[in-house]
Amino acid sequence: MQGLLNDWRRTHYAKETTPDIAGSDVTIMGWVHEIRDLGGIIFVVIRDVTGRVQLTAPSKKVEAEILEDIRKFRKESVVAVRGLVQEAPKAPNGVEIIPNEIKVLNLSNQPLPMDPTEKVQAGIDTRLDSRFIDLRKENVSAIFKIKGQMFHTIRDYFYNNGFHEINTPKLVASATEGGTELFPITYFEKEAFLGQSPQLYKQMMMGAGMDKVFEIGQIFRAEEHDTLRHLNEAISIDAEASFMDDVDVMKVLNDMLINVLTDVNDKCSDELSILGYELDVPKGNFPVVTYDEAVDIVNSRGVEMEWGEDLSREAEKALGDSMGGFYFLTEWPSAIKPFYVMPQEGDEKYSHAFDLMYNNLELSSGATRVHQHDLLVKQIEERGLNPDGFGSYLKAFEYGMPPHAGWGLGADRLTMVLTGSENIRECVLFPRDRHRLTP
Ligand code: ATP
Ligand code: MG
Repeated sequence: MQGLLNDWRRTHYAKETTPDIAGSDVTIMGWVHEIRDLGGIIFVVIRDVTGRVQLTAPSKKVEAEILEDIRKFRKESVVAVRGLVQEAPKAPNGVEIIPNEIKVLNLSNQPLPMDPTEKVQAGIDTRLDSRFIDLRKENVSAIFKIKGQMFHTIRDYFYNNGFHEINTPKLVASATEGGTELFPITYFEKEAFLGQSPQLYKQMMMGAGMDKVFEIGQIFRAEEHDTLRHLNEAISIDAEASFMDDVDVMKVLNDMLINVLTDVNDKCSDELSILGYELDVPKGNFPVVTYDEAVDIVNSRGVEMEWGEDLSREAEKALGDSMGGFYFLTEWPSAIKPFYVMPQEGDEKYSHAFDLMYNNLELSSGATRVHQHDLLVKQIEERGLNPDGFGSYLKAFEYGMPPHAGWGLGADRLTMVLTGSENIRECVLFPRDRHRLTP
């Protein structure tokens, strides 16, 4: 049986058509990026996932039938071309292809909903409405190639360091940290919610003896605010490890991020240069600032902040201006951290919680967790929550729960840092925000 493509198969990607294969016949497949018909000669730029290559069709060298077919090309149609590679110093990659056979695989409608060649700049809403075309732009797809490398390096790091990958449910019966920020859904005859964090499940895996676990998965937050760093659906990279404390898991996070920055810098240099972005790869340990010090820094910069408050946006900016780059913010007041965070022994006003920041952007929150059942119940009650709602979670703390610590790291926010993006929507294929549920 003949397959759909018969004997048409790609032999080279655009990027592989270089002067050292001049003289060979190649088959390329991709999108019609640009057509310039000068009468006696037609230039067509074909684009694929790797880049662009130019077709040059002079009427003297190319059969009339092929010229006629090329004239039927429409921008963004999908085509396959067989032809001879010739050196052409001015063309992309320094070569051009003289076509000897062409096939239109799928014609594109005109006009296009947006221009993928960036001749006309489109706003973010237009771009997101036609995201499939927007992603054809190399400065947009570069972000997702970098994001892919980020996940690759993170998985490698975890697997090389004895972490087990887990998947926890996203349909949940109760809140992780209380009732706000949750999307309620109908679950047959019951009310349920979309999970806002794998927190309780990854802790239960410590009680299950899994030792070290990680999960890369969706989190859902019904936050009303419409900012450049919040979405209602985000990807969280979560780690939890037994017989470790906050200092240990900060080290894990620090080491893992240095690996990510190093790999992205080395392996995504093309994408970074497309974005015109230079990545700063710090060495060694990120600086640490305590919450008390942060309050002083923020106030000294003319932004009012009382001890015991969470950082306002202005406070984050003042602190970011003072610290710069990656830094840990440690020794948070217990009262503004969740119930599962371990208070400091002897001075319970302070906790073993930390955040990882990049300039003024929070990337991660983590802590040593409470592993003692009764303390956990007390902390749940102190926050006005009902321990009955946490029955199956609390049970895991009654039969041998080891001391443990962990963190959650926002993958889309980390992608902003890796790509120099100001808006988190740039770093998510199909973002979900207060106003957007499609595509
Ligand atoms: P913020 O204070 O910035 O709203 P948070 O403290 O509520 O964040 P955590 O519950 O600590 O967030 O979640 C851990 C990490 O997950 C955050 O540091 C962030 O990187 C990411 N994250 C949390 N909420 C969102 C969101 N709505 N959109 C994108 N990423 C998020
Ligand atoms: Mg946080």
